[in-house]
Amino acid sequence: MCQLCGDARHVDRLVVARRGFLKLAGSAAVGFAVAGRAFAKEAERPPKPENVVSPDVALERLMAGNQRYVEGVARRHDFKAEREALSMGQNPFAGILSCADSRVAPEYAFDTGRGDLFVVRVAGNFASDDGIASFEYAAQVLGTPLIMVLGHEACGAVSAAIKSIKDNTTLPGHLPALVTSISPAVKAVLDKPGDTLSNAIRQNVILNVEKLKTAAPILSQAVEKKQVRIVGAVYNLANGRIELVS
Ligand SMILES: [Zn+2]
Repeated sequence: MCQLCGDARHVDRLVVARRGFLKLAGSAAVGFAVAGRAFAKEAERPPKPENVVSPDVALERLMAGNQRYVEGVARRHDFKAEREALSMGQNPFAGILSCADSRVAPEYAFDTGRGDLFVVRVAGNFASDDGIASFEYAAQVLGTPLIMVLGHEACGAVSAAIKSIKDNTTLPGHLPALVTSISPAVKAVLDKPGDTLSNAIRQNVILNVEKLKTAAPILSQAVEKKQVRIVGAVYNLANGRIELVS
């Protein structure tokens, strides 16, 4: 039985992948080799062969999809036809760290189908340990060549963090945890000229790209070996355009 999705048919391939992935905990170098072999097995029959691309081609594909979305000429996605191919595995061509904001929908914004994007979402699009672990899985086991941190204009989470820090107030419930995660970006731009919210949104993307790039040993080594590229971008709510910032 698959440990991730509960599908009994996935057992062989995912057990192999997980075995390789878990060995990374013992030794990064050995683990990479093992996980590499695991991925090679995954890659024998990628459900979406068109997703086996270089990091640069993956980025070009993302941006071309965004251009179609902006122009209102998004493709028709036949989810019924994709379902069967994807029932036995996945090989998404990009990982996206997005805000939870309902106006930012990565699959729509990049005009992609199922099995194309490995999306981690949290208000404020910051890389928590759980998020980093998710992208380690995507990069190492699923062979995803590109990760994008995607901020957006008028982000409520970043706005709340700015207000909390400026006013020196504590937000209710679990919200202080969000403030703590976003505060490095806010503090870095508080004294900078220009709009504090826009600057903090952009800085938050830049800092989290760096956090993912330097997340040792898995992502940092994958970036060093140019197996994975990590970029940052900001989504424009009014026109849907996604602009690269790092
Ligand atoms: Zn947001």
